[in-house]
Amino acid sequence: MSDCIFCKIVNKEIPAEIVYEDDQVMAFKDINPVTPVHILLIPKKHISDLTAITEEDKELIGQIHIAAVKVAEKMGVAEDGFRLVNNCKEHGGQVVFHLHFHLLGGKHLGTKPPA
Ligand code: 5GP
Ligand code: ZN
Repeated sequence: MSDCIFCKIVNKEIPAEIVYEDDQVMAFKDINPVTPVHILLIPKKHISDLTAITEEDKELIGQIHIAAVKVAEKMGVAEDGFRLVNNCKEHGGQVVFHLHFHLLGGKHLGTKPPA
C-alpha cells in the first residue's frame, strides 16, 4: 500500500526506532508513547485491520505473538508483564489502518482493560 505509513516504515522510506525485525514481523517504538515502554508490532505485509485476516494468516498471527515476547524481553518488561492491545476499526479506536498490536509496559497498568 503506497500511501500507508506503516508500509513506508517496513520499506524504510520513513524512519522509525526499530527494535525487532524478522521475515514477517517488524516492531518499532510508538512515536507518541503512552507508557514507559510502548512498541508497535506489525506484519510486514499490509493487512488493514484484524477483521481482514484469513486462515492463511494463522502462522503470521502466531509469529507476531512470539515476536511480542522477544520484544518484551529485550525491553525489560517480560518479567513484570505487559499488555498487548489491538485497536480494531472505528469503535476500537484504530487510527492507522495497517494491522498493529501495541505492547505496553514499564508500569502497572491496572487490572481492567481500558475502555
Ligand atoms: P491506533 O490507534 O491505530 O491503534 O494507533 C496508532 C499508533 O501509531 C498511535 O499510538 C500513534 O502514536 C502511532 N503512530 C502513528 N504514526 C506513527 C509514525 O509515523 N511512527 C511511529 N513510530 N508511530 C506512529
Ligand atoms: Zn500498510
